Amino acid sequence: MGPGKRDECCPVDRPEGIGNTNDIDFRLECSLKTSADVTMTQEVLASFIDEANRTILKKGAPKGYGAEVKSWNIEGDRISLIIESGRYVRVHDALLRMKKPLASKLGKDFKIGIRGVDVGLYTIEMPCENELPQMKIPYVSDIKYLEGKVILTLDVDESAMSNRVPDRILSLMEDKIEQQSYGGKTEHWNILWQSEKKEHRLFEDPTTAMMNAGWLKRGASRGQWIHGPQSTRMFRTFEKIVLEELLEPMGCREMIFPKLVTWDVWQRSGHAKGVYPEIYYVCPPKTRDPKFWEEVIDHYKVTHEVPNSLIKEKIGDPIGGLCYAQCPPFWPYLQGETIPTDEFPIKVFDRSGTSHRYESGGIHGMERVDEFHRIEILWVGTKEQVIKTANELHDRYMHIFNEILDLEWRKAWVTPWFMAQEGLAGVAEQTETGTTDYEAVLPYRGEDAEWLEFQNVSVNGNKYPSGFNVKCQSGEELWSGCSGVGLERWSSAFFAQKGLDPENWPEEFRKRVGKIPEGIRFL
Ligand code: ATP
Ligand code: MG
Ligand code: ZN
Repeated sequence: MGPGKRDECCPVDRPEGIGNTNDIDFRLECSLKTSADVTMTQEVLASFIDEANRTILKKGAPKGYGAEVKSWNIEGDRISLIIESGRYVRVHDALLRMKKPLASKLGKDFKIGIRGVDVGLYTIEMPCENELPQMKIPYVSDIKYLEGKVILTLDVDESAMSNRVPDRILSLMEDKIEQQSYGGKTEHWNILWQSEKKEHRLFEDPTTAMMNAGWLKRGASRGQWIHGPQSTRMFRTFEKIVLEELLEPMGCREMIFPKLVTWDVWQRSGHAKGVYPEIYYVCPPKTRDPKFWEEVIDHYKVTHEVPNSLIKEKIGDPIGGLCYAQCPPFWPYLQGETIPTDEFPIKVFDRSGTSHRYESGGIHGMERVDEFHRIEILWVGTKEQVIKTANELHDRYMHIFNEILDLEWRKAWVTPWFMAQEGLAGVAEQTETGTTDYEAVLPYRGEDAEWLEFQNVSVNGNKYPSGFNVKCQSGEELWSGCSGVGLERWSSAFFAQKGLDPENWPEEFRKRVGKIPEGIRFL
């Protein structure tokens, strides 16, 4: 998964200031261009800087920390400065904090203005035990490793500094360094609940069993299946169970979310930070003028080959991708709105289409596919409402998996690796925001092999309401949560444990599935 990934719906940011507490050194050499010679301001400047070093450059930092102007001097219409800092009041902040009051002082006392900032050298030095693989980072012109440290040289101007580019570079590097020391592991795993062991009816790969029984076939695309009438009946039965046992009693309203997701949505949801290796990109045609496409059409008619390189020239840049996580494209519905307090908790769900992920090599069966079907449940409200709704979902799922599907399963709390690593006030055990994965044993793999995550329940905190600027009339902070019921995963878990023979299915499931339709026969 991408860096910092927690689960599909809640890509995680490292909270500011958390993480490596080791020393980080920022150093900025720059000069302020002035509208006239400033030589005569020498004394005023000396006392301004002296005071700044004691006041504005320390404000907000713990005692003994903050930025400092280490040296300065005047050369005609330029004031050059060397500023140093640690993590608190970083050098670019220090410069920006000084610029305005200095400009007003020079303006008032000398009628001199500040015309601009030239950055000579901006470096960040941070601890780094092992060299990272070579990389290209915007605004970074050089990366050097030296005795357990990495030294970054930044190529930033005033506007990049006021846009907090150096802060983002620091977080990015901290992520990379910590991720390296955790060998790419992204999650900490904590078991919450486990069912008793069950007797299993099948010890073969359920996809193979379903194929042999003629329930489904491979689709033409990578990781894609065509579900025959029998397999489809199973999906619909799972949906019916979720509808009757969970969605209807909880008062969830059905909606239809878009399945083509544009970059602006993923920027707000946070997916733009890491989703790239796994999405199916969408490119519209440059124009729908048939004349523009005639060459492609003629080429195909003559050669019976689709001329991909010609097509590439005629399509535009990607505008986004196919649905990856189901909930981000819902949020523009609420975006920018203030919602009456008594409307909450809002509980909705979508089952209107497929999700698509470019999965890694091991897409052998139905449990890990590039095109899958899922009911996504999404709720929004105050923190208390959101947590209460998540708990109700957990209770209802428990009933479904124990009493209706009779599965051997467990629940685990998953924490982003860096949070677990930091041991943030018991974050590994905390239950307010985060994800609970539901996992089932696949008997053909063995009890001790990896279990299959077949769904999850996430409490996402205020991430979505704040990303999409949604407000509650009362002014209270809004939270949201979501839960994805993966139908391929439910099928895989159920058939892996129960087999395909209805004789071996639990009575409660048999009642709901009815008579399984005949499949299409082949010679
Ligand atoms: P995994 O670690 O197994 O890849 P994930 O962490 O990527 O799962 P999420 O991103 O949390 O899964 O997705 C939520 C749910 O969507 C999963 O619990 C599962 O039901 C379903 N899902 C995700 N990826 C796939 C896939 N490739 N094929 C089928 N279902 C999937
Ligand atoms: Mg995955
Ligand atoms: Zn979601």
